[in-house]
Amino acid sequence: MLNLIIFGPPGAGKGTQSAKLIERYHLVHISTGDIFREHIQNDTELGKKVKNIMASGQLVPDSITIEMLEYEVKKNPNAKGVIFDGFPRTVPQAEALDNFLQSMNQKVNIVVQLDVNEDELRARIAERRKVSGRADDAEEKLMKRMDEYFNKTIHVLPYYEQQNIVTKVNGIGLIDDIFDQLCEAIDPLV
Ligand code: AMP
Repeated sequence: MLNLIIFGPPGAGKGTQSAKLIERYHLVHISTGDIFREHIQNDTELGKKVKNIMASGQLVPDSITIEMLEYEVKKNPNAKGVIFDGFPRTVPQAEALDNFLQSMNQKVNIVVQLDVNEDELRARIAERRKVSGRADDAEEKLMKRMDEYFNKTIHVLPYYEQQNIVTKVNGIGLIDDIFDQLCEAIDPLV
């Protein structure tokens, strides 16, 4: 079982690379942002709870996010592995994931960090804004999301660096070249 975290700020290319990774390694893709958006679309209880928080660019509280994540993992007991995309975004979430996986005799095997500078991220999201229809891609919401990333999410990296499982990949360049670099890091684990 391969548990992989794809890590990076908004606009780093996590979704794009995840789509290619699931195809190659046949992993289950768990994107917490996508799942929250689906709940909002379907107007579920959870969707109602997180709608305004998400639209403002803030992080959803850990307790809600962790419960949802565990539920999604349990839904796939026969998975060959999981790509966690957009999770964990805080150190308590990372700790909760470790405990949860441990309870199933599993662990996080690798964290791939997509490294992209802030100017490039802003340019990419400005492009995405034209087509994504995401309320939180608007300029002022994006600022909040960047704040959340640099205040809270960035601290997740040292947590995994201590475990020696982080591979940093330059996230600027051709999609296929970035993908090749990810595969180089992942292939020895499968
Ligand atoms: P994303 O699609 O990954 O950019 O996530 C969009 C939004 O969903 C974030 O700005 C948060 O409001 C919420 N979200 C997604 N994943 C998490 C998480 N792990 N913890 C807290 N909030 C999250």
